[in-house]
Amino acid sequence: MSPRQRLCIVVPAFNEAQALPALQARIAAVLDTLDLDGRVLYVDDGSRDDTWQVMTALAEADPRVSAIRLSRNFGKELALTAGLDHADADAVVVLDADGQDPPELIPAFVAKWREGFDVVYGTRLARDGESWLKKLTAAAFYRVMARLSSTPVPRDTGDFRLLSRRALDALGKLRERHRFMKGLFAWVGFRQCAIPYHRQARLAGRSKFSYWRLWNFALEGITSFSTVPLRVATYVGLLTSLLAFAFGVWIVLKTLLWGDPVAGYPSLMVVILFLGGIQLMALGILGEYLGRLYDEAKQRPLYLVDEWRPARTD
Ligand code: UDP
Ligand code: MG
Repeated sequence: MSPRQRLCIVVPAFNEAQALPALQARIAAVLDTLDLDGRVLYVDDGSRDDTWQVMTALAEADPRVSAIRLSRNFGKELALTAGLDHADADAVVVLDADGQDPPELIPAFVAKWREGFDVVYGTRLARDGESWLKKLTAAAFYRVMARLSSTPVPRDTGDFRLLSRRALDALGKLRERHRFMKGLFAWVGFRQCAIPYHRQARLAGRSKFSYWRLWNFALEGITSFSTVPLRVATYVGLLTSLLAFAFGVWIVLKTLLWGDPVAGYPSLMVVILFLGGIQLMALGILGEYLGRLYDEAKQRPLYLVDEWRPARTD
């Protein structure tokens, strides 16, 4: 008989002490129904509340649970990477710690994986407990991303997904520092398939992503997967110089035809400010990419592990 397939559920958590016990109960109930060797790996992303104590207690109570604590808060994308690096299984499922991604969907993911899909992701049909502004900005982001990115990133899809071993290994080779996970998952390719689901409200606590953080996250996504902004800067520059040339010709003609009355100071000011603005914007875009190059060049480790509690094998 072949050994049982191993499934590892990776859960990054930052200040989720209140949500974890209820989530673990749901995950354990789902794992019990599945015919495979199921494990759970919690990653404490430098939480400032009791998250680590809760995780160790969960690991104590259930031999299938293991936990890693990072040395500080590295952000969700890196916490997730740490979890994926430490997951030793035939397939992994990525799950948010706040219960917004229902573990009850895992059997459907597993079924698709057994059919031969390498990446099975959940697509949000509806989102409970989120403001209209968040829904609107999220929708706008996915659409802009779809236009700009050379790798198609599936719409309305978070990190909630299952990865097969070979997809996980491929992902492990992408060691860039600015990690836009949704894009990296898509970049890997292989056989992918979507399962629609209803996104629930958080079990407890508040979202860790403020609008400012989401804005930066969106910039990260766009600059990591597209160089279109650089090209836009070129075209805007080209267009303004064409317009400026036409305007110059017009001034010369006007002077020849109708003489040279005192030229307008306001129009001069407008042109100078306009060009100054465009130049600064183009420099800023360049700077965004340069800064990312600088971060990559430093070659720092992606994260540091403070403590690792492997699952008990008894
Ligand atoms: N998270 C994390 N590190 C952070 C911020 C968030 O590991 O610095 C985790 C968080 O605990 C949760 C997941 O990432 O499990 C998604 O975060 P959140 O629910 O705040 O985001 P939202 O669902 O609002 O997009
Ligand atoms: Mg959430």
